[in-house]
Parts: sequence; structure tokens; C-alpha cells
Amino acid sequence: MEVVEERDVVIVGGGICGLATALALHRKNVRSVVLEKSEILRATGASINIRRNGWQALEQLGIASRLRSTTVPLLAQRVVRLDTGLERRIPFSGETRCLKRGDLINAIANDLPHGTIRFGSKVLSIKLDLHTSFPILHLEDGSFIKAKVVIGCEGVNSAIADFLELKPTKIFPAGMVRGFSDYPDCHSFSHEIVITRKGDVSIGIVPVSDKLMSWFVFWHWRKGMKILKDANLMRQSTLELLEGFPAELVEIIKKSNRDSIFAGRLRYRAPWHLLSGNFRKGTVTVAGDAMHAMGPFLGQGGSAGLEDAIVLARCLHRKLIGFDLSCSPSQTIMQKVGESFDEYVRERWMRVVMLSLQSYLTGFPLGNSSMLGKLLCIIFMAIFFRDLSRHTRYDCGRL
Ligand SMILES: Cc1cc2nc3c(=O)[nH]c(=O)nc-3n(C[C@H](O)[C@H](O)[C@H](O)COP(=O)(O)OP(=O)(O)OC[C@H]3O[C@@H](n4cnc5c(N)ncnc54)[C@H](O)[C@@H]3O)c2cc1C
Repeated sequence: MEVVEERDVVIVGGGICGLATALALHRKNVRSVVLEKSEILRATGASINIRRNGWQALEQLGIASRLRSTTVPLLAQRVVRLDTGLERRIPFSGETRCLKRGDLINAIANDLPHGTIRFGSKVLSIKLDLHTSFPILHLEDGSFIKAKVVIGCEGVNSAIADFLELKPTKIFPAGMVRGFSDYPDCHSFSHEIVITRKGDVSIGIVPVSDKLMSWFVFWHWRKGMKILKDANLMRQSTLELLEGFPAELVEIIKKSNRDSIFAGRLRYRAPWHLLSGNFRKGTVTVAGDAMHAMGPFLGQGGSAGLEDAIVLARCLHRKLIGFDLSCSPSQTIMQKVGESFDEYVRERWMRVVMLSLQSYLTGFPLGNSSMLGKLLCIIFMAIFFRDLSRHTRYDCGRL
């Protein structure tokens, strides 16, 4: 094996969490390189809701005000059940907005030093150097990178999580499609997230701005169902799911922008696997979905990744003050980075376990038809998550 390159800090994956981690480290004067498998910035995708805790992390990264300017503040979440006629409105107690994912990714990437992201770099595997115990990354192009520090942020199919022997992610028994609809003359929807449910189908609509609505549809996944690739077919099959839903909701999907439509299955790391997982080996750790993929039912996966970035950069920087990664003895680096990652994992562990559990329990009724299961789920929610908004009041602290 030929090691062609040596690096201090390598982040694998240039999604929300990988880029945010690179930016948080940059703000603390720690240089890193981000290896991203795609050839260009993945500034696409649908929308992402950011609650108060996510905005606190974005403030620390120094990009919150830029992102606010393209969105409207959301005041509440309303859940309407067509089967029973029941309606519940939960006002948001902190700042909540819905962003275009592309805007978020671009805002983070634009503040990174030129050359930080290396595109077309897919990591296949990682192992430890027999002599130094530092990680060695094997890339798809056949090259190897020897790093002092590796942070795996490559989402649900993470080679770094495999190296840490985390249990594989699971598929949630629900399908999802989402997209955007443009309203050049301004829409008249309220500044709320409105989720309308009928049977095992839910449709959510969320204003991004006065001219842009984001929407999503979830449904219980049944054997034999397929995720369609063609946007027109996706839209058509989504409209078929919405039989009996109010016409104004159906209209949003009918007029949606074809290129904005995405469909997929939902993956999550089981909360009980997070409880016992080992998130650090030597100078290697994970963050974002690679650590704690969760269903989208709380809308917190991305914000949790932003929080990871702040906490990880703070812990690493604290240990590296007055210390040069590139020319210090390997034993000392091992010890300092190892201690900082242990601090990071300690600080994040219970937070991500509780977020994953709340997300799992919130989505459980959508993916399961057992009455006993649903009853147990209600009991667990009442015991652990009586205050439904508590997760938004978490503060990841200063960078
Ligand atoms: C339907 C849906 C709705 C959601 N809504 C919300 C919401 O409203 N609010 C919220 O906070 N969260 C939401 N989430 C969760 C959020 O999207 C994720 O938690 C977040 O995108 C994870 O970011 P990440 O950077 O950890 O991983 P990813 O976004 O998956 O990024 C991983 C990156 O790594 C790259 N990569 C992968 N493998 C490799 C490799 N081997 N080598 C190099 N690069 C690699 C990929 O190309 C990608 O760029 C939602 C998720 C879904 C599915």
C-alpha cells in the first residue's frame, strides 16, 4: 500500500454536518479538509426546518443572519386529523424557520477557506496504521490518505461508523416525498407548519418565504411498494395517496416545481443502539447522521448535526491550544485528541439518545398498525416527553 498524502484533520462527507464541522474548526483556527464523494457541492434537496436550538448553532457559526433574510418566521405547528376532526395547535416558543437546503449548504461552504472541500473523493474504508495507530483512509480512486484525526460525517451509510462497529441503520416503515411550490404573486398560507392526517397518510405544508411553499407527504410503507424515480410519476402517485384530502392541499402538490420533487425511504439508527454504541476509536469519531440518523418526525436531524459540529470543534480546540498537530509526537496527539473526542461524545450522548427516541416514538404510529404498540408509544411519550418542545430549548453553547 502506498500512502500518497498526509493530513492533520480529515472530515469525510460534505453534507450539512461535515461542512459545519469544517467551518466550526476554521473559526477556531484549526485547518481541515473535507472529502466529498460527489463532484459538486450537494446544494440541492428539499427544505429543512430549523428550530431554536439549530439557530443557536448557526449563530455560533456566524451565518444565521444571512439565512434569516430569505425566510419567514414560523409561529406554530398545527396538526389536523381528518378522520376525527380533531385539531391541535402548538405555538413555537423559539425561533423556527424553514430553509432551502441549498441555501444552508451554500452559506456554510461560502465561509470555508478556498480548497477545503475536495470533491470526487469517495472514502471506501478506514483502518489504523500498525506503527502509529493513526487512521489511514482508502479512497475509491485507489489513493490512501494518512490522517491524524478523522471525523466521519458521511451520513447513513458511513464507513467510519462501520469502523467504529456501530450497528447498521434501519429502514423506517414509511415512504416520503417532498418538494417546493412557487407563488410568484405571494401565497396566503399562514406562517405555520400544518400537518393534515387521514388514515396512514400525512401531508405537511410549510412556508419558506411569502413566495415559496415547501411540502412533504409521509405514508405507511406496504410490501410491494416502490420508490419512483421520475418526478412526474412521483407527483402522480403522491396525488393518488391524497384522495379525500382538502383541495387546497392537493393543489400545492399539483403546482409543485418538477425539479424539486424528491422521494425516498427513511433510515434511522435505533435509539437503543445509540445507548450502547462506541463513538470513538483512537483519533476517529463520527458526527451528524453517521452517528445518530433519525426519522424526520421531529425535524431535528440536521440541527443535531449542527450542534455536533459546535461541540466537537470546541472540545478539540480546547485540547489543542498551543499545540501543533503537524509536528507533535504521535503519542501526545493520540492522548489529546482522544481526550477531546471523549469529552465530545460525553456531551452529545444523552442529547442524541433522547432526540432519537422522541423522533422514533413520534413516527412510530405512522409506521406501525399494532394497537398495543401505539398504546405503549403513547405511554412512553407521556413518561419521557410530556413537554413536546423541550428538545428545542437545548443550547449547544459557545463555539
Ligand atoms: C424527509 C426528511 C426530512 C428532514 N427534515 C429535517 C428538518 O426539517 N430539520 C432537520 O434538522 N433535519 C431534517 N432531516 C434530517 C437531515 O436532513 C439530516 O439529519 C442531515 O441532512 C444530515 O446531515 P449529514 O451531513 O450528517 O449527512 P448527509 O446530509 O447525508 O451528508 C453526507 C455527505 O457525505 C457524502 N458522502 C457519503 N458517503 C461518502 C463517502 N464514502 N465518501 C465521501 N463522501 C461521502 C454525501 O455525498 C453527502 O454530501 C430530514 C431528513 C429527511 C430524510
